[in-house]
Amino acid sequence: MTIGGDDAPTEHTFGVRNPATGEVFAEAPECSREQLDAAFDSAAKAYRGWKSDEDLRRQTLLKMADVLLASSGDIAPLLTSEQGKPLGDANVEVFAAAIWCQYFANLASPSDVIQDDADALVEVVRRPLGVVAAITPWNFPLTLAFWKIAPALLAGNTMVLKPSPFTPLATLRTAELLRDVMPPGVLNVVSGGDDLGAWMTGHPVPRKISFTGSIETGKKVAQSAAPDLKRVTLELGGNDPAIILDDADPAWAAKAIFAGAFNNNGQVCSAVKRVYVPEALYDDVVEALASYASAVPVGDGTDPASKLGPINNAPQYERVKELVADALAGGATAVTGGKAMDRPGYFFEPTILAGLTDGTRIVDEEQFGPALPVISYRNLDDAIERANATHFGLSGSVWGTDTDRAAEVAAELECGTAWVNTHLALSPQQPFGGFKWSGIGVENGPWGLAEFTEVQAVYRSRTGDGMNISTAGLVS
Ligand code: NAD
Repeated sequence: MTIGGDDAPTEHTFGVRNPATGEVFAEAPECSREQLDAAFDSAAKAYRGWKSDEDLRRQTLLKMADVLLASSGDIAPLLTSEQGKPLGDANVEVFAAAIWCQYFANLASPSDVIQDDADALVEVVRRPLGVVAAITPWNFPLTLAFWKIAPALLAGNTMVLKPSPFTPLATLRTAELLRDVMPPGVLNVVSGGDDLGAWMTGHPVPRKISFTGSIETGKKVAQSAAPDLKRVTLELGGNDPAIILDDADPAWAAKAIFAGAFNNNGQVCSAVKRVYVPEALYDDVVEALASYASAVPVGDGTDPASKLGPINNAPQYERVKELVADALAGGATAVTGGKAMDRPGYFFEPTILAGLTDGTRIVDEEQFGPALPVISYRNLDDAIERANATHFGLSGSVWGTDTDRAAEVAAELECGTAWVNTHLALSPQQPFGGFKWSGIGVENGPWGLAEFTEVQAVYRSRTGDGMNISTAGLVS
């Protein structure tokens, strides 16, 4: 672990499994309560200098990007071993982490002058919050960590970060590599189980919790933040619909939807998780999706031929098995796939499910794995209503040849990102967050940066008068 810029050895460790084998291949440090206190202490101490040197912050973020770009050969294999994703995708994660640092290093800090007259100069500026507690999931351990680290640090905050117990190693190693280019205490990385996350959210020092994970845990985080009114950003689960319109080319839509559904083996918060298809196109779309799913090479992420790896962990593997079995028992058909692969590790056949509808668990719940339900519809309004009839609201997509019409339908979706003829198009400047139970707040872009700040109005009187309700600029 990295605490106060130094190595922090622990008394206890826990095993980390390689999902391609199911075997423990490494031991990760188990942070004690005293060490967590020390991490928050060092973040609080570092905050004083860090918040007042914007130039240093920007330079540091650029140096962090350089370290990341130079270290993917070191970090990416660790990520593949603990997460399961193919090595090429692990390299992309490290690259994305660097790009996020570069983007925020160059993003202007917002400030507005709202009054400048004989009475007063009034500026609205953004101030950092203080120490941020950041908690990440196991699907994109590095990318999602840097969605938090880069804006939080640019804004002048310091941080204690905890990766998922399923994937702690790449994040711990990254923090170790970054020690040389960061003032001690600015970024502390600890590891442990879910209890450590709860200790962090209940800790008196952090003023903000930036959390990415499941809805269930997100609600616990919100509860834990409430007693001392910590700010929260919650990036939670999704059950993204893709709605194909009747003027879409089925083969073309199926190809892109397959990519949007099976990226990272379906373990993406904003992956396509259910597809709505007009009756007339249903068979063609199902057949095209199945042809991609049956042909995609699945294997150990270290094998260059693998395009999809295993499911990350045993509980998630069991959950995908359970949801697919439930759908099949309810009368759905596995057009391809439908079962676990007969080999060690948590491998599951890429699965396309047909002949099912809303009310089936795999349609209503977040499967977060390589199994995609395809649902037919007769009436578009009804399909939109079904797409929205859920507590989820992360993202969604609409597919059609007439893009204006598709955009009109996309505008009906109750979600944080509405894509037209694509799914999973993301960038550092584009806000990302969920409606409804999929989250509170957003990450990325100036909107994501704002979430790591408080608004401060700085009022400089030019008259020395006392209370003054100004109508300057409002009443002519
Ligand atoms: P999870 O909620 O089980 O765990 C996420 C993190 O929270 C882990 O680090 C875990 O140790 C920690 N944690 C567990 N209990 C805690 C508690 N009581 N207090 C504080 N922290 C606690 O989620 P997961 O299984 O790791 O990730 C998968 C979920 O994350 C899916 O639902 C997925 O959709 C969601 N996700 C959302 C986004 C997004 O940006 N919206 C991105 C990726 C993943």
